[in-house]
Amino acid sequence: MSFNPRIQTVKKHKLKPLEYYLDGLAASNRYVLSECITLIESNRPEKKNLGYEILANITPTHTSIRVGLTGSPGVGKSTLLDNMGLKLIRKGHKVAILAVDPSSGSSRGSILGDKTRMESLVKEDHAYIRPTASGTYLGGTAANTREAIMLTEAAGYDFIIIETVGVGQSETHVSSLVDVFLLLILPGAGDDIQGIKRGIMELADIIFINKADGERVELANLSKKQLKSAISLMQHKMEGWKPHILTGSGLNDSGIDHLLTSLFDFINHSKDVGYFDYNRNEQDLQWFEDQYRNMVLHEIMTKTDIYPEVLTIKEKLQSGEINPIDAIVNTRNLILSKGIK
Ligand code: GDP
Repeated sequence: MSFNPRIQTVKKHKLKPLEYYLDGLAASNRYVLSECITLIESNRPEKKNLGYEILANITPTHTSIRVGLTGSPGVGKSTLLDNMGLKLIRKGHKVAILAVDPSSGSSRGSILGDKTRMESLVKEDHAYIRPTASGTYLGGTAANTREAIMLTEAAGYDFIIIETVGVGQSETHVSSLVDVFLLLILPGAGDDIQGIKRGIMELADIIFINKADGERVELANLSKKQLKSAISLMQHKMEGWKPHILTGSGLNDSGIDHLLTSLFDFINHSKDVGYFDYNRNEQDLQWFEDQYRNMVLHEIMTKTDIYPEVLTIKEKLQSGEINPIDAIVNTRNLILSKGIK
């Protein structure tokens, strides 16, 4: 087995006293906010514990708006967010963008990518942009992001946007974290519209057909019509709401004001009918369930009598001594013969 020699040179960050983090969050210090999110994302118990201590000592705010934004790579998310974020800041909001990228094990790509793409926003004092690590353990993505949202809110950000690419389960995860879910798509012929996964359409509260500029304007309008008829057959989870379908261009700054109006319309309607509080409460329960499941699974997986033997099997798999099927069958036989005690 070979180790990356550079790992040895990484300096160990010393943990600071709790007050340092709490004061930093209260002062809306972005560097400290990033440190706090790193703690909560850490797999090292002493760091994670400190992260939870910080969370336990902050007062949750109820004035924020949490927005989920999903769309395939290249649809124009960063360009739109750059534009939309600035508008929100001009309206007096403090905007945080947390990018969740469950498709990559490392979030380095997104850090650099998003920072360079949201060029105007990164220069703003009232903007915070950060990818949240995609956890490798069950429910990891959602668990870390929820905590990152709380920390971000504690640092005074009132408009939190969770951005994700529309692959796999990420959009379902993200929709369970937010108050309003926005889907970004490209103008396309009927075939493309049919191609959008029905599941995502059902999650969307607002659909924005982006890049409706130049020669694509007509196509965008056609897509809008087709989507409207497709949506009319669907039942939205919030009573009295039909998803708004808008066209616009993040690049040319068209349709963004309408988009913001739609976002606030949704939030206001959601508060009026009681859905906003109901939804957040459901999400809190889900958070608790997820955490409980993770904790119990961790205990069961690591504290059972057979764990040392499971570790040996894992090491053999790692060294290539056995193949994955052998590893799984051996573990299965172990569980069946000895049980989980
Ligand atoms: P993301 O991967 O979804 O974040 O997409 P980006 O915002 O990085 O945009 C991908 C490419 O599309 C870039 O070259 C942008 O300049 C371009 N782009 C983004 N928004 C628009 C738009 O509204 N109209 C046009 N024509 N191009 C756009």
